[in-house]
Amino acid sequence: MDLGLSKDELALQQRARAFAREVARPRAAEIDRDEQYPWDIVKALAEAGFCGMTVPPALGGQGRSFLEAVLVIEEMAKACTVTSRIVVETNMGALSTVLAYGNDEQKKLAARLVLEGDKPAICITEPEAGSDATAMTTRADRRGDRYVINGKKHWITGAGVSRLHLIFARVFDEQRKELGIGGFLAVRDEHKGLRMTRREQTMGLRGMPEGELTFENLEVPASMAVLPPSGFRRGFADLMNAYNSQRVGAGTVAMGVAAGALEHAVEWAKTREQFGRPIAEFQGLQWMLADMQTQLTASRLMLYQAARSRGPVGSAFPDPMLAAQAKIFASETAIRIVNDALQFFGARGYSRELPLERMARDVRMFTIGGGTAQVLRTLVASKMLGWKLPQTRDGYAPKPPLRDAAE
Ligand SMILES: Cc1cc2nc3c(=O)[nH]c(=O)nc-3n(C[C@H](O)[C@H](O)[C@H](O)COP(=O)(O)OP(=O)(O)OC[C@H]3O[C@@H](n4cnc5c(N)ncnc54)[C@H](O)[C@@H]3O)c2cc1C
Repeated sequence: MDLGLSKDELALQQRARAFAREVARPRAAEIDRDEQYPWDIVKALAEAGFCGMTVPPALGGQGRSFLEAVLVIEEMAKACTVTSRIVVETNMGALSTVLAYGNDEQKKLAARLVLEGDKPAICITEPEAGSDATAMTTRADRRGDRYVINGKKHWITGAGVSRLHLIFARVFDEQRKELGIGGFLAVRDEHKGLRMTRREQTMGLRGMPEGELTFENLEVPASMAVLPPSGFRRGFADLMNAYNSQRVGAGTVAMGVAAGALEHAVEWAKTREQFGRPIAEFQGLQWMLADMQTQLTASRLMLYQAARSRGPVGSAFPDPMLAAQAKIFASETAIRIVNDALQFFGARGYSRELPLERMARDVRMFTIGGGTAQVLRTLVASKMLGWKLPQTRDGYAPKPPLRDAAE
């Protein structure tokens, strides 16, 4: 099928497919079973040039597009979900935010680390601030030429293995006046006061640690504040906009897992015989295959379109509307496709000896992380209507002031 990919893009896709088949696929079941972050895969990805592909050449990268990253992510996800998530995080997400709004020092730091294979962690969610992220209570207090960060985050992907952290916190100046929500870079082991205090017990994606992070008087130089031109007051919205690429990446992982599961189902349907004929000869299954393929193609097209798009004029990020719609559609259809693919295998699909049950557990996450399918629908509706849609009972009533750090 010609999806308008250039020769260069097709060559990259082929290279990713070969890597996925030869390096990622043989390790996928083991990574899930051992629940260990796959450092061997990280090293191989970095050596093959799949980490930091989107970093501009001036910073040592290849300056590849989000579409090119998407092509690689899809191929990896067919074979191993954890591998594909490493490709997402070393090319999109926190990296995009730093490349868009960071100062030179920050850009060089992020580029160096991702090119080495580091998967930056983005730290937003707190126990009492999930979908309502702006209810966060982690705070960053200005003290001379530094910020001192205190608070707790949970469900942070890469907790304990990531070096670079982009931490979101409420910002206070030296007079303890609140300025808004800002992002701060910290490097594990270099900036003291950043600890993983718990590992989450997850349903799937088990080789990628999710954890609670505690910041206790974590001191970072003031130059580590990632400041969009709008400053701290509107900064959170801008920083999150840059994070949009992550939604395209996450949707692509889900779509890739679904594509992999569908490939397994097609092969099995042609070889498994019941009632003296291959089960592919039953129309009940043929129509399931056709529906799965149709949904998959629609997801792929939406994701490619979102990856190729640019947001508001001059924006370096995918269009937020297209990114949100692609993530909603791809994540929800992927869950259905993988579930149906598992059905093709009967009892065997339910066995841990085949990859289908792992894929079903892995893919379930993508309607939750990176903005739930419900919250993304609110974003889409808000843009359609041209209205702000505050979700609190009191509209935009100010939140109660935070307790002072000195109290
Ligand atoms: C595997 C995984 C990895 C993650 N990685 C990260 C990470 O790296 N960094 C990070 O900061 N966070 C991360 N998260 C956290 C994730 O972003 C949050 O789980 C998500 O934002 C939802 O927050 P919550 O879990 O507190 O659910 P809640 O906000 O409590 O929501 C509960 C339910 O209510 C619905 N809901 C809430 N508000 C509304 C509304 N206004 N309208 C309609 N429905 C609503 C939600 O859709 C959901 O179904 C990760 C989560 C998972 C599962």
